[in-house]
Amino acid sequence: MTNGDDGNADETDNAPQLSVQQEPFGETPAGEAVEQFLLTNKKGMVVSIMTYGAIVTSVQVPDKDGNFANVTLGFDSLDGYADPKNKDPYFGAIVGRYANRIAAGKFSIGDDEYTLATNNDPNHLHGGNVGYNDVVWIARVVETESDDSVAVELTYVSNDGEEGYPGNLTVTVLYTLNNDNELRIDYTATSDKATPINLTNHCYWNLAGVTDGEGTLPILDHVLTLHCDNYLPVDETLIPTGDKSAVADTLMDFTSPMAIASRFSEVKGEAENGGYDHCYVIDGWDQSLRLAATVRDPKSGRVMEILTTEPGIQLYTGNFLDGEPEHGGFAQHTAFCLEAQHFPDSPNQPDFPTTIYGPGEVYKQTTVHRFSIASVKP
Ligand code: BGC
Repeated sequence: MTNGDDGNADETDNAPQLSVQQEPFGETPAGEAVEQFLLTNKKGMVVSIMTYGAIVTSVQVPDKDGNFANVTLGFDSLDGYADPKNKDPYFGAIVGRYANRIAAGKFSIGDDEYTLATNNDPNHLHGGNVGYNDVVWIARVVETESDDSVAVELTYVSNDGEEGYPGNLTVTVLYTLNNDNELRIDYTATSDKATPINLTNHCYWNLAGVTDGEGTLPILDHVLTLHCDNYLPVDETLIPTGDKSAVADTLMDFTSPMAIASRFSEVKGEAENGGYDHCYVIDGWDQSLRLAATVRDPKSGRVMEILTTEPGIQLYTGNFLDGEPEHGGFAQHTAFCLEAQHFPDSPNQPDFPTTIYGPGEVYKQTTVHRFSIASVKP
């Protein structure tokens, strides 16, 4: 498959312009004002990001006929995101201070032991009870180096001891949209004490287009390729065993394009009807930006490639979505997440790349979501 045409909007006087629009997006229950930023490129792609959770609320991209649709799940309004009952899905959010699981919510740095919330019994998940997805970030529109892109930068200062993590940590996320339909996410973080850092974006993707809970179809036919020869086997609580296993000749193999759901029911997991909830090891990790995943929706022709500097990528196929209001009404398997990150439970796994950053050390990550149209027929 090649990704040729990328869905140009018509070149007319009304052609979209590269721009950033800012608008109020409501108030949190605590009365904090939330803003939304709409990044638009010359092809008409629009990415909406709000200051609550640095959440990507919508990504509008064209299909093979030039029709635009939103391809990421979310709630209808800020109330949905800010309602404590609805925390679980992490739709579109920046997740931290430690994305994914830490076994039993415990880790040590030197002689100091730390205890975190076990909000995903018996483990710690996605930063705890109030993670970075549930706080209001400070945002500003920034000039980019190229005149081919627009960007918004969001910053959050997480206090020493917040959710049990050591160190005052400043985290900055820069979302950039360019005219090649690439959404780039650059993360930077520094702390004044040694602390674990593992950040990710938790968008739920459905390249066929997202409407409401009822109208959004399962992603069963989406075709996935992962540039990952290995994955991390997990125990029954989804904590890695510490091994890396080859995917060859197993249900985990996506090294060649494969319908994402073709083996859902055979994948052992917690969820009824199965599905994936596994971290894959990206081939040849050297901290440079490299292609980790390609997903194609045969019907719409939409393609998303993910490039990242991270060593791992969590494939989560919306196994726990259940159609209830707490999940925006979205049913099981109506989206997939591909979360670029370091490996789960790294603070307790000496053989995994470290996620502990000393005072003044700079955490950096870049992940790019590149949208295009498949130039082959399904
Ligand atoms: C995890 C899932 C979890 C989901 C929502 C994913 O990153 O791997 O186990 O259910 O996030 O919290």
